[in-house]
Amino acid sequence: MLTQKQLSWKQERIEQVNRYLEKDKRVDFIDDALIEKLIAAPSILDRVKIAELLAKSKSLKGLSPEEAAYLMNIEDKQTWEEIFKTAMEVKLSVYGNRIVLFAPLYISDECVNDCVYCGYRSSNKEIKHQGLTDDELRAEIRAITGAGQKRIVAVYGEGPENDADYIAHSMNVIYSEKNGRGEIRRININAAPLFVEEYKTVKAAGIGTYQVFQETYSKSRYRQLHGTDNIKSIFNWRLFSQHRAQEAGISDVAIGALFGIYDWRFEVMGLLYHAADMDREFGVGSHTISFPRLNPALNTPFYTKNKYKVTDDDMRKIIAILRLSVPYTGLILTARETPELRHELIKLGVSQIDAGSNIAIGGYQKGRDASKEQFQLSDNRSLDDCISELVDEGYIPSFCTADYRCGRVGCEFMELAKSGNIKNLCIPNAVLTFEEYLLDYASPAVKVKGDKLLSDYVKFVRANYSETMAKNVDAYLARIKNGERDLYF
Ligand code: SAM
Ligand code: SF4
Repeated sequence: MLTQKQLSWKQERIEQVNRYLEKDKRVDFIDDALIEKLIAAPSILDRVKIAELLAKSKSLKGLSPEEAAYLMNIEDKQTWEEIFKTAMEVKLSVYGNRIVLFAPLYISDECVNDCVYCGYRSSNKEIKHQGLTDDELRAEIRAITGAGQKRIVAVYGEGPENDADYIAHSMNVIYSEKNGRGEIRRININAAPLFVEEYKTVKAAGIGTYQVFQETYSKSRYRQLHGTDNIKSIFNWRLFSQHRAQEAGISDVAIGALFGIYDWRFEVMGLLYHAADMDREFGVGSHTISFPRLNPALNTPFYTKNKYKVTDDDMRKIIAILRLSVPYTGLILTARETPELRHELIKLGVSQIDAGSNIAIGGYQKGRDASKEQFQLSDNRSLDDCISELVDEGYIPSFCTADYRCGRVGCEFMELAKSGNIKNLCIPNAVLTFEEYLLDYASPAVKVKGDKLLSDYVKFVRANYSETMAKNVDAYLARIKNGERDLYF
């Protein structure tokens, strides 16, 4: 139950938001009727059209939402195999064979909203609604960096305890906590939508990406799941979160939908229209897209009652269609999925995964605790175990944080990606950060096979990159072996 302070904060904020929206000139880009029509019927199998769309995808031109809808509704199994294969090719040609790793860090589950699917909802009496103290936060950071992580997504509920000033404060605490050679070099944020001035406060603290998930793009479904007197009830406030963040100068923003609360096809369409509208206004779409799937949460009966279940096969289709449609956008796959399925889904075009995750408040030090978790994770392996599997599959794990620290964000990042040049930086930076991991944190078994993989990638750089880049990689690796850290291109 909410405290008096939380109740009055919430009421005041709802009024502020409504006053803001009355003056906001942005036009809703989600046409529910059009999307429902586009996804309504199975597509007629037209091999010529399919070949054209796959060729367009391979040339990295992306697909329009209408073209994506056509492919999404194909029922022919062989065509899907071709779509999956094309998605893998697209991922390889934009990013190469590297996977960026990060850890989620849940800082506060105090929340004034009451989303029916979420364990942290205010009416859930079985959750200990609480936030970390600064000392607890530092201890969590030491536990995370002690495993070798360099990038986190910090997660907050919405409320007076988690306003923009607190988010900026907690970011300062995180960045300043050093743990031997360990440190967090990039903080992404997953938190409630903010006003432009508030986003500026968070930007000043050194943000990587600001993520807000729309949950569902269907307005009628959104209304059913978020109540009528919550801040989160206001669909348009959330829909334009990323636009306001970009207006505030945050160049890397991220969208997502919670798959499994409405028809997955509608959500894919919503994500594509969302990215397109940001591109129209700011010249750059979403930096990343997340496609979390609904998982069970403590005392949350919605999970079992809900009729929009998304199957593993649907997940394959979701990822592949996104990969073809927005080739330059990072795709994030989380530990909501099982290790076995992650193993398979990564191949379809994923560029980032979380690993060694714990989503209980204080969980990295104290272990799992359902009464402090937003939902249950399905992949509870350690970072080292996840890396071990990536290495076996030939992926180079990356803890790279170079882009935003070199100012390669927003449009500039997209230009580099589109010209094929981002791959030229991604692989060398992956090599350098993976070497740090192998020297400082890897288990003996991962060190042995990781060293072998690393030397293969160094050979690859020598054979395929400019002479200068090859020499620089060699020189930086020698300096890292000599004890220097945090070298990047
Ligand atoms: N309170 C902020 C908000 O809602 O924007 C922060 C996000 S919340 C802590 C992170 C995301 O987790 C939500 O946006 C939602 O998509 C997802 N989520 C919520 N309940 C979930 C569940 N039961 N299973 C999987 N993901 C869930
Ligand atoms: Fe709060 Fe976010 Fe959970 Fe909704 S999804 S109850 S806003 S923490």
